[in-house]
Amino acid sequence: DAVVFWMRMQDMRIRDNRAFGQASEYARQHGLPLIALFILSPQDYVAHDRSARRIDFTLRNLTHVKESLAELNIPLRVITHSPRNTLPERVVEILSEWNAARLFANIEHEVDELRRDIRVFLTKDGRGYTVYSPFLRSWLPHLTDNSDPLACAPRVESNDPTVRQHPIFGKFFNAAGPESVEGFELSGEDAKMMRLCWPAGEDAAHEILRRFLQTKARTSQFGAADPLALGASEPKAGLKDSRIGKYKDARDRVDADTTSRLSAYLSAGVISARECIRATLALSNHKQPKIDASRDTGIGRWVQELAWRDFYTHVLALFPRVSMGRPFQETFAKVSWETNEAHLQAWKDGRTGVPIVDAGMRQANKMGWMHNRLRMITAMYLVKDLMIDWRLGEKYFMETLIDGDLASNNGGWQWSASTGVDPVPYFRIFNPYTQSKKADPSGDYIRYFVPELGKVFGDEIHNPSPRLAEKLGYPTPLVKHDEARQRAIRRYKNPGDV
Ligand code: FAD
Repeated sequence: DAVVFWMRMQDMRIRDNRAFGQASEYARQHGLPLIALFILSPQDYVAHDRSARRIDFTLRNLTHVKESLAELNIPLRVITHSPRNTLPERVVEILSEWNAARLFANIEHEVDELRRDIRVFLTKDGRGYTVYSPFLRSWLPHLTDNSDPLACAPRVESNDPTVRQHPIFGKFFNAAGPESVEGFELSGEDAKMMRLCWPAGEDAAHEILRRFLQTKARTSQFGAADPLALGASEPKAGLKDSRIGKYKDARDRVDADTTSRLSAYLSAGVISARECIRATLALSNHKQPKIDASRDTGIGRWVQELAWRDFYTHVLALFPRVSMGRPFQETFAKVSWETNEAHLQAWKDGRTGVPIVDAGMRQANKMGWMHNRLRMITAMYLVKDLMIDWRLGEKYFMETLIDGDLASNNGGWQWSASTGVDPVPYFRIFNPYTQSKKADPSGDYIRYFVPELGKVFGDEIHNPSPRLAEKLGYPTPLVKHDEARQRAIRRYKNPGDV
C-alpha cells in the first residue's frame, strides 16, 4: 500500500503546501510510504500557450523538489503523458500499479476551497465580485479570520527510510528527471539567461522575498553591474529604505528596482502568497500582528497587489468564459480590429518606434518578464494605438513570459483593452510618451534595452525626432498617437464601426 501526492505545475513547493502536508500526515498515521507524482502533459502546454521558459522553469524546480523530497525519504516519480484526455485514466492506472488507495492533490482541495471561497466571496445578492475594492474588503477578513489561520502550515514528517529498499519505489530515487519537454526546448543562450534571471527552487524564492523585504532599494538599477540578475548579495536596509518600504512611491518607476520580482515563483507555486503575507506581518509595527493592506504604506500597497492576483483568479473561476477569448463586457465583442501582421510583428520585436514600448517588449523577449507598468503600456499600445485584437497580445505574453498565468494575464489584458471587470475606461488612453517620462524619468531603462538609443539623453530619449531616429537606425513610429487615439475612441464608442 502507498499514499500518493500528485504535485502540479502551480504547486511546486514542499513548504506551506496543504495537500502535501495532509498526505504526509495520513501516511504517517497509517504507517504507509508516501510517493510523490508529477505528470508532464505537453498537449496541455500547447493548449494553454505555455512558454518554453515556463516549462524549463518547471523542470528546474522539479530538480529542487526531488532533492527536498529525497531528504525526507519520499521518492518522486515524473512521467510524461499524452494524449491529455486520457490523463485521468493514466493516474488511476498508476495508483493501481502502486497499490495506492489514497491520492492527495491541491486541485481537489482547491475545488473544495473554491466552493467555500465562492460562498465567502459572493456578494449579498449572490453574485461574484466584479469590482476590486469590495473584493479586497472581503478578502482581508477571510485571510485573518477564517478557520485556517495564516500561521498554520501542515508539518511534513520524514517518511519511512525503508522505502529506499522498496522494489518499485526505491528506483524512483535514482531516476533522472527529463531535461526538456519536446516542443518546449530553449536555446543555450536563452537557458543561460533564464538561469541568471530566475534561479529555481524554494530557497531561491525565499531569498528573493528576503531581498524585497530587507535589502536596500536601488534608485537606478541600470547602472549596476548585472541589473537583470537576482540573488546577488545586496546591502541590508531597514523598512524605510528597503524595496518594500519604497514600494508605495516608487513602484511605478521602471528604471528602479523596487518590485519583488516574485511573480514567476508565485505562478509556479514555488512560494505561497500566504507565506509572502505572513512575512510582511513580521515587519509590521503592530503589537498584535495585523495584515496591513492600506494604500498609505509600502507593505499595504504590496499586499493589495497580491489581492489583485486572487481577484483575477476569482473572476476566472466565476466567469470561465473570459479565458476562452470572450471579453467580460460583451458589448465590446464587436469592436473592429486592424489586421496588420507587420504592425503586430513590430510590436512583438520591440520595433514600433515608441522607445518605452520597444524597451518593454525587448525586456520581455530577453528576460521573460516585464514590470507591471510596462505590461500596461505595451498592452494599451497594441490595443488602442495599433488597434490590434487584445487576444493576440494575450497569447504572445503567455508564450514569452516566465510567469505566464492564465488569470492574471487575462485580467491584465482585459483591463488594458477596457473589456474586463473593473477595467480602465475605454476613453482613458495612455499617452505612451507621457507614460515614458513618468515611468523612466532618467531614461536609463530605455537606454539599456534599446541600445540604438544608448547615447541619447534628455527628453529626446522618450520621443526621438525622425532625423535622429534615422541617423541611429531606430524606426519611426508606426502610427501617430493622437490620430490613433481618436480612432480607438470612435471604434469603442460604436462597436462594429470601422
Ligand atoms: P510585485 O509588484 O512585487 O507584486 C507582487 C505580486 O503580486 C506579483 O508577483 C503578482 O503575483 C501579484 N500582482 C502584482 N500586480 C498584479 C496585477 N496587476 N494583477 C495580478 N497580480 C498582480 N502577472 C503574472 O503573474 N502573470 C502574468 O501572466 C501576468 N500578465 C499580465 C499582463 C498584463 C497585460 C498586465 C497589465 C499585468 C500582468 N500581470 C501578470 C500582473 C503584473 O504585471 C505582474 O504580476 C508583476 O509585474 C510581476 O512583478 P513582481 O513580481 O515584481 O510584482
